Amino acid sequence: MPKYVKYVYDFTEGNKDLKELLGGKGANLAEMTNLGLPVPPGFTITTEACRHYLEHGTVPEGLRTQVDERLAALEGRMGKRLGQADDPLLVSVRSGARFSMPGMMETVLNIGLNDASVHGLAAVAGGDAASERFAWDSYRRLIQMFGKTVLGLEGDLFEDALDTLKRDKGTDSDLALDADDFRALVATYKGIVREHAGRDFPEDPREQMDLAVKAVFDSWNADRAILYRRQERIPADLGTAVNVCSMVFGNLGMDSGTGVAFTRDPASGRQGIYGDYLQNAQGEDVVAGIRNTVPLADLEKIDKRSYDELLAIMETLENHYRDLCDIEFTIERGKLWMLQTRVGKRTAAAAFCIATQLVDQGLIGLDEAVTRVTGGQLAQLMFPRFDDARSGDSTLLTKGMNASPGAAVGKAVFSSERATELAEKGEDVILVRRETNPDDLAGMVAARGVLTSRGGKTSHAAVVARGMGKTCVCGAEELDVDVRAGRFTAPGGVVVAEGDVISIDGTSGAVYLGEVPVVNSPVVDYFEGDLAAAEGDELVKAVDRIMACADEKRALRVRANADNPEDAARARRFGAQGIGLCRTEHMFLGDRRRLVENLVLAETDAERRAALDALEPLQRRDFAGIFEAMDGLPVTIRLIDPPLHEFLPDLTELSVKVAVAGENADPQDRRLLEAVRRLHEQNPMLGLRGVRLGLVISGLFSMQVRAIAEAAAERRLAGGDPRPEIMIPLVGAVQELEAVREDALGILERVKADTGVDVPAMIGTMIELPRAALTAGQIAEAAEFFSFGTNDLTQTTWGFSRDDVEAAFFGRYLELGVFGVSPFETLDRDGVGRLIRIAAEEGRRTRPDLKLGICGEHGGDPDSVHFCHEVGLDYVSCSPFRIPVARLEAGRAALAGEGSDSR
Ligand code: ADP
Ligand code: MG
Ligand code: MG
Repeated sequence: MPKYVKYVYDFTEGNKDLKELLGGKGANLAEMTNLGLPVPPGFTITTEACRHYLEHGTVPEGLRTQVDERLAALEGRMGKRLGQADDPLLVSVRSGARFSMPGMMETVLNIGLNDASVHGLAAVAGGDAASERFAWDSYRRLIQMFGKTVLGLEGDLFEDALDTLKRDKGTDSDLALDADDFRALVATYKGIVREHAGRDFPEDPREQMDLAVKAVFDSWNADRAILYRRQERIPADLGTAVNVCSMVFGNLGMDSGTGVAFTRDPASGRQGIYGDYLQNAQGEDVVAGIRNTVPLADLEKIDKRSYDELLAIMETLENHYRDLCDIEFTIERGKLWMLQTRVGKRTAAAAFCIATQLVDQGLIGLDEAVTRVTGGQLAQLMFPRFDDARSGDSTLLTKGMNASPGAAVGKAVFSSERATELAEKGEDVILVRRETNPDDLAGMVAARGVLTSRGGKTSHAAVVARGMGKTCVCGAEELDVDVRAGRFTAPGGVVVAEGDVISIDGTSGAVYLGEVPVVNSPVVDYFEGDLAAAEGDELVKAVDRIMACADEKRALRVRANADNPEDAARARRFGAQGIGLCRTEHMFLGDRRRLVENLVLAETDAERRAALDALEPLQRRDFAGIFEAMDGLPVTIRLIDPPLHEFLPDLTELSVKVAVAGENADPQDRRLLEAVRRLHEQNPMLGLRGVRLGLVISGLFSMQVRAIAEAAAERRLAGGDPRPEIMIPLVGAVQELEAVREDALGILERVKADTGVDVPAMIGTMIELPRAALTAGQIAEAAEFFSFGTNDLTQTTWGFSRDDVEAAFFGRYLELGVFGVSPFETLDRDGVGRLIRIAAEEGRRTRPDLKLGICGEHGGDPDSVHFCHEVGLDYVSCSPFRIPVARLEAGRAALAGEGSDSR
């Protein structure tokens, strides 16, 4: 006997915590039902059934019987059968996955209508002309949605037929169409189905329903859904649930309608009445821009009772979910119905403001507020904004709605394809459309910002842009957008054609011609210390409170990757607790290249000595500056890492130069060419670099160690508190490290004797080769600290040369799902992460007080920071600008209780 699996849940059986199984929509419909809110009855088919279907191509055994049972119960409760000729039960079949994917998947309304039940529907609705109209309108919507979603026909086929009908009637409003028009349209639509799908529209209600359920399952793998998931990093194997929900009708007349609402402004977080309402309309009409919606506040005048009830429900939902909710509702002849709610998407700024507002309202604590925002959102708040003072010099074309904040400058483009094309060439583009739909997704991803002339803050463009953190101005109605001609006309007749540069301000809604200069965001001014929290606006205050709590809770320290005093100073202002990686190779560029050439060309010990002696004072000055900027905090200096030929002229260029000069070639050039040839490597990443260089070019590492020690002594004599840590790169065996270490200890002793100042310096290594990780127990004998160089560790673990692979085939790998996100962006926990765990554990077994950190770019990546917390590292190190992000994520990791037993 196969064991019983429950695939169908009545709305009364679920709750909001069952999102994995029931999808977000189903779980929240159940939650609202159980809260006693007016939700039309229905049931949910689980994501598990969907996964089975996607895997096997057939629905699981038992699903049909369970649907029969639930449907019978629903029919019993409603007192009518699905599609019953004289009084039909109609249902919607709605997709709804674990993570909301707005507009990505499909929904079919009015299932159960056919040539017989359409008359029953009209009769029950009142039997008058308006009811006739309503019934035929509902029927044609069913065929349209069914044709598009279930039968896979082009939506335009139906749209064009509707447009033609309107044109023939001499109107552009659907409201001017009557029952006869819609009856005719039904006939036309059926003809379209027959011609293009090669089958008749199914009259059998149950067949309609079953086919729609499968279509919703299939929509999980629609191209745009796949693209959206990749963009939002949603796993590809979750599947969608399907909600079967009895219909309520907003298209029954002017006392009916449909709307969307937020419990707070998703752009600013302010409490108030935010939403759009459309009378005599159904489903998507309100966001599709078929007619102009009215602001939700106007509902008070249209239908005060429903309005008051809606406000009360919104308050109930906010208090229950303790967060901003968004809502879909329908009013059927004065009766309010709730069709959807979820914790709503919001802008980054709103996320911070709402979190602290909820704290002040006593709904959540400050700790929880920290978990309600993300490092990604904080990073967004640090992007520059347009300079208000100087925007006056640019031509303001118009003002639209400030749908998603940020400042975006780019060339206007009018199609998703064009946007992708130009963006691939490295151009900044702004996607301009009348309105967007899910087919525009690729273009929205590629563009710096999105501008539309229609639709409100709940339009597709606005919702999707906010989700992606992309700048968006929508509903700029004064713009006449001609997508076909590739241009738009602004008031006053200014024409902007494809390729013209425009600037859009998602914070104010302004659209400018040309490039507007940008300034720091106030959040950056705050981190810089130029703006005190008390002087800042609500956002700055919210960031300050949340950061303070994150700092208090986090176990990880945060350091910076910084190579010069300026970066070090900024990092410190941003909260860095030291430098985790100071690379020394930049210090050999520019004028100093010549000195490196001398070192490479040196043939005798004396020549080599002279070359190093020339470099040493310069290095000493470099280090002294950094110690000063980081006074009192640890500074990890990595000895020179890249192969020396990186500092020499290019092989081809030099060969040509020498060849062209022939007999008269500069002898220095000849010697250089010889050296370049000698040092040329097939695989520089795996060649003579790091510790290998230190062991082969005698005196090079010693010179650097001496410069560090002397700079530290000098700072100490000047009253400073330098804390140097010397880091040896690319170690694979403890013997390599021991050799360098012994030499370094000798130098430190000598400097101490010469200067009379004892500055303790730790000596440690980078762990960036799998062998180093696997022999960490031995390496820790000679290392006082490990710093995981996860850029190289990722390269060497995967056998990827980053520069070669990223452009060549990572796109394909992401498509294939080899990884969901590049391992260079987010640390690969299973592989690279495992090596880190081994190294941390075995290293600490040898040396319990071994200091552990990470200095790859992953140190500023939110997910990787959480990993570092879990593994029990002491610190993460990242670029100065990412430091606040790392601080916040470290706090969130600690609050999420991602335990570490090794700390
Ligand atoms: P999406 O996830 O794209 O929002 P939905 O499943 O929420 O799709 O449905 C699309 C539209 O149809 C929404 O406006 C929704 O409110 C409306 N709708 C869905 N089910 C019903 C129903 N039973 N009665 C009336 N309207 C419905
Ligand atoms: Mg919806
Ligand atoms: Mg490295």
